[in-house]
Amino acid sequence: MEEEKCIFCMIASKKVPAKEIYEDPMIMGVLDINPASKGHVIMIPKKHYNNIYEMPQEEFLQYMSVARAVGYAILLSLAPNNVEMLYTKELTKGSVTPHALIHLIPRYNDDTVNHVWQPQKMEENDFTAVENAIKSAIEKVKSTDVQKPVKPANEEQKKPENVVKENKPQINIPRKVVVF
Ligand SMILES: [Zn+2]
Repeated sequence: MEEEKCIFCMIASKKVPAKEIYEDPMIMGVLDINPASKGHVIMIPKKHYNNIYEMPQEEFLQYMSVARAVGYAILLSLAPNNVEMLYTKELTKGSVTPHALIHLIPRYNDDTVNHVWQPQKMEENDFTAVENAIKSAIEKVKSTDVQKPVKPANEEQKKPENVVKENKPQINIPRKVVVF
C-alpha cells in the first residue's frame, strides 16, 4: 500500500485526527476508536513498515520498549487484570492493516475479548518436520541483520527519575501526555 493512502501514516502525520495518548519522534500511541475493551491502544510506528519484520532491529526494540511502558501505564491508570500485547495484521476478520502495529488490549473480568482457535491434532512426524523447518530458518535468521548486536542502553535512560522500580517496566512517558 502507498504511504499516502495508509490510514496509520495519515494519523502519524496528523492528516487524520486521532485520540493520541503518546507521541515521540518515532512512535505514536492512540486509542482505538472501536476498542476491544476499555483503554485499547494502538502503538503506531510513524515510519511506514508493512510489518514488524521490516523494522530495523534497534528501532523495533525501542518500539517494543515504548509499547510495554504504555501498557504498564494502562495497568496503572485503568487497573485491568492484564494488558495483552498483540501484534497482528488482521485483528478483525477481513480487516487487514497494511502498517505494522501493536495493539495493547486491557483485559477485565467482564470483557468480551475472545481469542478463539480450534486446537489441532498433529502427528509426531509433522511436529518433527515443523521443528526442523523452524530450527533451520533460525540458523538463517542468525546470519542476517535481524541479529545485529544492540547498542548498550542509553545512559540517559538510567537516570533515577526515569526508573520506576527495579524489575518493573520503565516508563518514558512525559507526564503532560499521560496523567495518572
Ligand atoms: Zn502506513
